[in-house]
Amino acid sequence: MARRPLIAGNWKMHKTVAEALALVRDLKRLVAQVRDCDIAVAPPYTALFPVAKAIEDSNLRLAAQELFYENKGAFTGAVCGPMLEEVGCHYVIVAHSERRQLFGETLVTSGKRVKAAFAAGLTPIFCIGETLAERQANDTMKIVAAQLDAGIEGLPAATLRRLVVAYEPVWAIGTGVVATPQQAQEVHQMIRERLRARDPEAAATIPLLYGGSVKADNAKELLAQTDIDGALVGGASLDAESFAGIVKAASVRTRGQ
Ligand code: PEP
Repeated sequence: MARRPLIAGNWKMHKTVAEALALVRDLKRLVAQVRDCDIAVAPPYTALFPVAKAIEDSNLRLAAQELFYENKGAFTGAVCGPMLEEVGCHYVIVAHSERRQLFGETLVTSGKRVKAAFAAGLTPIFCIGETLAERQANDTMKIVAAQLDAGIEGLPAATLRRLVVAYEPVWAIGTGVVATPQQAQEVHQMIRERLRARDPEAAATIPLLYGGSVKADNAKELLAQTDIDGALVGGASLDAESFAGIVKAASVRTRGQ
């Protein structure tokens, strides 16, 4: 079964509405010819609706950076899945390490968010990854496996098959220190095997993205790895030329197994 590459840009807390519209205008032009790769942008909440309108006629899809797992109620500052779906989101990032480190997200709440995203018709991009201390203690595989298990617990196989997983070593996010292709592949392979044990079709279909200091000049080697199907990109997604360079590195072949 073929897996299409996915390159997703996480803009974090960057870009006003005017800046967001300028970025997608340039990006649309630069990637207009790309047919063999899915492309997503995740602007901040304030820019979701205008960006949705601006990309309607393009090959870009909209992602949100986070959702809460309840659908309504007294949850000041929170936004739920149905609201994101209504403004045109296709994907939502779940459990990004900055949410885990700064906003108190836990293994339990990441699982609730994954389920809430699916219930709203969104595709979760579920983030997992170890800290530097965990890697140095040789705990990478154990930590990442536990995070994966918590996020997919209780999902029926047919739902699981629609998940996107992003392996993002925390030490590589925004640091300029990228995992070597071998380091990333090792973890991706473990994730794929763990998914296979749950459901062979899920292992074959779920795109596994790598995230952590991906740039146009290191993307090709990372994406050449058997189990790396795309990238979740932070800093380099804020500039149309550099993000388009990563998309082009991914669009050279459709992956499969
Ligand atoms: C991210 O925040 O998901 C990320 C991978 O950031 P960067 O590309 O800047 O390391």
